Amino acid sequence: MQHATPSTVAPPAADLPPVTTMMKRGLRGRCPICGKGRIFNGFLRVADQCTHCGTALGRIRADDAPPYFTIVIVGHVVIPLMLWLERAQTPPLWVHSAIFLPLTVGLALALIRPIKGATMGAMLKLGLATPDDAPRNNA
Ligand SMILES: [Zn+2]
Repeated sequence: MQHATPSTVAPPAADLPPVTTMMKRGLRGRCPICGKGRIFNGFLRVADQCTHCGTALGRIRADDAPPYFTIVIVGHVVIPLMLWLERAQTPPLWVHSAIFLPLTVGLALALIRPIKGATMGAMLKLGLATPDDAPRNNA
């Protein structure tokens, strides 16, 4: 496999695909620029660069945005269901726990990776990646 030399973070925004395309590619875990290389080299660990086009994906630091979006979405699904069940059936607490704890954890785990990819696609389009000369924080 040939690795391209690390480029700058990304081409100028005008040369990039539309933001919706970049977010869809990120949702699928693919490089927002080319749509072919993988964004992740672990569950949520971002690859240093795209294996196909060489974009410096490691410079896109989404930080707390993907967990925030995931919590908002999961909360808007789980809380109404929980309230509906409580009003309709008034089940004991263990039933709520048996249903909603696994649902919450499962939804969060299922959604955080595609949400992180989509967030990275939007950040790249908006020019929110860390510049090449900035110090990296790999903590
Ligand atoms: Zn790429």
